[in-house]
Amino acid sequence: MHRRAGRSIKRRRVESAPAERLWFDDGNIILQAEDKQFKVHKSFLARHSKVLAGMLSAPGSGVHNPNCRTGHAATYSSTGGTSVDNCPVVTLPDSGEDWEELLTVLYDTFRKVKSTEPYQVGTLIAMLRLGHKYEFDDCKEEALTCILEEFPHQSRMRLFDYFTVNPNYHTEGIMCGPKLITFGSEHSFFDLLNVAVELRLEPILPVLLLMAVYLPAFPATIFEGTKSISGNITTLVSPSIQQLIISAREKLQRAVGDVIYPFLLDGRTIPAPKCQSRDQCEANRLKLIQTIWVPLPSLDHAFPFGRSHKLLSEHGLCARCEEIGREYTSDGHEALWNSLPRLFGLGDWATLENFKFDL
Ligand SMILES: [Zn+2]
Repeated sequence: MHRRAGRSIKRRRVESAPAERLWFDDGNIILQAEDKQFKVHKSFLARHSKVLAGMLSAPGSGVHNPNCRTGHAATYSSTGGTSVDNCPVVTLPDSGEDWEELLTVLYDTFRKVKSTEPYQVGTLIAMLRLGHKYEFDDCKEEALTCILEEFPHQSRMRLFDYFTVNPNYHTEGIMCGPKLITFGSEHSFFDLLNVAVELRLEPILPVLLLMAVYLPAFPATIFEGTKSISGNITTLVSPSIQQLIISAREKLQRAVGDVIYPFLLDGRTIPAPKCQSRDQCEANRLKLIQTIWVPLPSLDHAFPFGRSHKLLSEHGLCARCEEIGREYTSDGHEALWNSLPRLFGLGDWATLENFKFDL
């Protein structure tokens, strides 16, 4: 098992190994990231990445490219440096896995993301992170398109059905759009949340942060990280995001009583004016209050929305009172959903819908 936080990468010092599928006989440059080497084509890379185009056209300069957004220097050692297979070696300060994913996407003409197979989080992360850093603009744009399609901002039930019905969403994957975004064996939920925070993918943050609020073993998971199927643990890179999730959970708990069920408290809504059984409905209203507020409002009463209708019918209200209750809870759900981005300090849905990515 290894732990990783955000951008930190494994620091294994082992012999560099050529990646077979990305080792072309007629390649003319070797990229090295961690222990992985790729023999690829300089002009091909330059065509896709403005940053690499700049770097590779300035040979031997131990390049620090001013356009590189994160300021990490890569070393281009064509003169006086190492060479492999008579090709200069460019050492990159990134994850070898990320480069393997990104180069596979480029050389396989995006087949990995354009197929009907589930999206692999590792692939999307590499496309976003390296796409951003080295300005592989097509790659980054493609990954953003995939992700935005999967997180329809205003769509509700499919999302909530999925993440509440599948308690392993944080390890296995997320499906709230047409395709599954799978974490594969190596990644887990915080890998995706970290990159969304790092690259400010704001339109998908409300839903991702909501999922974080529902993580099992809360709040320990927020500090200790989520675990992939193979046992990799990824921690949240930003302490302020940890704080945000914890305070949002408290607000969401309060919203159960304040936004979804306040109509139960005043005694004028239920029993309803046309109640068919006043004494019984009044007694059952008090029972409902107890279920919801004692000892504290539970997050289970916030999402999924369908559960609250079940709760009302389980508490034996007359048909008229149950109908009124459904109307009020539906309004409450809508209000809660509308305020979801604000719960995480993100403005409102309309603003997020028009969010301009920094491409
Ligand atoms: Zn009634």
